[in-house]
Amino acid sequence: MTQETYGERDFARTDDLRVVHERLLSWYAANARDLPWRRTRDPYRILVSEVMLQQTQVERVIPAYEAFLSRFPTIEHLAAAPLAEVIAAWGGLGYNRRAVYLWRAARQIVEQHGGEFPRDRRQLEELPGVGRYTAGAVLCFAFGQPVAFWDTNIARVLTRIFLGPDHSPRRRDLDALAERVLPLDRAYEWNQALMELGARVCTSRSPRCEQCPVRAVCRSVGTVGMVRRRSERFAGSRRYYRGRIVAALRRLPAGVSLHALRELVGDPDSAGGELALEELVEGLARDGLVEVREEGGEYFVRLPGKPAD
Ligand code: SF4
Repeated sequence: MTQETYGERDFARTDDLRVVHERLLSWYAANARDLPWRRTRDPYRILVSEVMLQQTQVERVIPAYEAFLSRFPTIEHLAAAPLAEVIAAWGGLGYNRRAVYLWRAARQIVEQHGGEFPRDRRQLEELPGVGRYTAGAVLCFAFGQPVAFWDTNIARVLTRIFLGPDHSPRRRDLDALAERVLPLDRAYEWNQALMELGARVCTSRSPRCEQCPVRAVCRSVGTVGMVRRRSERFAGSRRYYRGRIVAALRRLPAGVSLHALRELVGDPDSAGGELALEELVEGLARDGLVEVREEGGEYFVRLPGKPAD
């Protein structure tokens, strides 16, 4: 597919686009959830929320977001904190690598930008862990810039509404689509509304077309959903053991030998998989989540920056 396929004659005819704008924005105004990150325009708070919301559901993020911000209320507080404290504060959110990226991004903003967030997409994308989506979200939700961006949810909603059920647009086609349908004067509400619709109505597996505000003009109404993916087995997976290792080290600030760690988290090999504990620890060390030191022929592991005793 080329961008030509997504020209105005193929989607978002003026009338349809106007209807989508009106109906989706009215629905959002009446139905938006009162989420803590919708009450702020502080770029630091927006960034924390966006990083937490990657991979984690809203209900789990809300208490973690509030606890994290009471511990690190400003970007300076976060940048000055030891990494181990930040990882510990990440708590049960999982995907701990995000905490490392967030901490590195905070340090970069403080050290290279004097604590001021860049208002430029390219500079934001140079921050650790910040990609096109997160940079767009900060620019739009914090600085009110009319920028388009998409993640899996927004991409699904845009594709269904404007293209139809048989389309799998490439990244650059989605960029073009998102930009073309963005109402420049209502970018904040529009991007929030797309997310809200994707989370609550146009869900991946069970879209509720009968309750959808844009059903009259949606090109996929009644035709999508119910595609069940085989869920990835979590227990025994790489992510499962990585999470267990970091959780064990949170309880043991002085660190622990590799041998004792195996006792604490179980042996990945005996779970029938091909994961070796050493390899998992090495991966965590490469991601900056743990430190490994050798002492008397034994390896010791701890969270980074924790005292040695
Ligand atoms: S009509 Fe159905 S497929 Fe279209 S946007 Fe609404 S919920 Fe999604």
